[in-house]
Amino acid sequence: MPLARPVVLGNWKMNGLRADGLALAGRLEARAAHLSGTVGIFPPATLLAAVAQRLSRSRILVGGQDCHTAESGAFTGSVSAAMLADAGARAVIVGHSERRQGLGETDEQVHAKATQALLAGLTVVLCIGETEAEYLAGERNEVLARQLAGSLPDGATPETLVVAYEPVWAIGTGRTPSLEEIEETHAGLRRHLAGRLAGGDEVALLYGGSVKPDNAADIMAIKDVDGALVGGASLDADSFWSIYAAGGGT
Ligand code: PEP
Repeated sequence: MPLARPVVLGNWKMNGLRADGLALAGRLEARAAHLSGTVGIFPPATLLAAVAQRLSRSRILVGGQDCHTAESGAFTGSVSAAMLADAGARAVIVGHSERRQGLGETDEQVHAKATQALLAGLTVVLCIGETEAEYLAGERNEVLARQLAGSLPDGATPETLVVAYEPVWAIGTGRTPSLEEIEETHAGLRRHLAGRLAGGDEVALLYGGSVKPDNAADIMAIKDVDGALVGGASLDADSFWSIYAAGGGT
């Protein structure tokens, strides 16, 4: 079954020690007794097992922020998709711009990571997005098509794939594209997914980049926006939950 809408996912990035992470997970669990949509959180790798254990009786999905391209081996400091699953993860983010831009990850590597994730039984949250220079040069659609073509894993389904459109220039900046631009972009992504995958028209398409309680309702009301990937605002339970509620989630 495709993921229930809205799909609102929180990427905690490199934030939180054990006490903070468990307290935040506990505050979310208290609100999540009957979820009409899908709520997921992506703690740092060090907290994954503890948070997954803390939420083991909750419907909140817990995921990893990245995985390696290989199944196992001599890769000091890295974490495989199977290790994430073993720690209690049900999903993993791949292709986040802080890794594509910050660490030079290629579409080929993102594709390999997504493939490992599917093999490990994880849902893939595939991030794509243009830089500000690409946006200003009018290259957004071309960049997104190239990233999707190069990194979308084969065999993904609406149950195992979420695609997040995250303009790099909107992440953590307080800036977002206009509602019309998001609508146009998501319509193009929907067409691409429908042409590429069986069930592509049911894959959850999220917008990410400076989603806050005060803009979430307008963004998630856009056609083909099935939810949001939230960074900064996911570190506060009230803000994160207001975003979920703004998307119609109860
Ligand atoms: C992100 O990093 O995926 C993100 C959307 O961050 P923020 O919400 O802080 O812009």
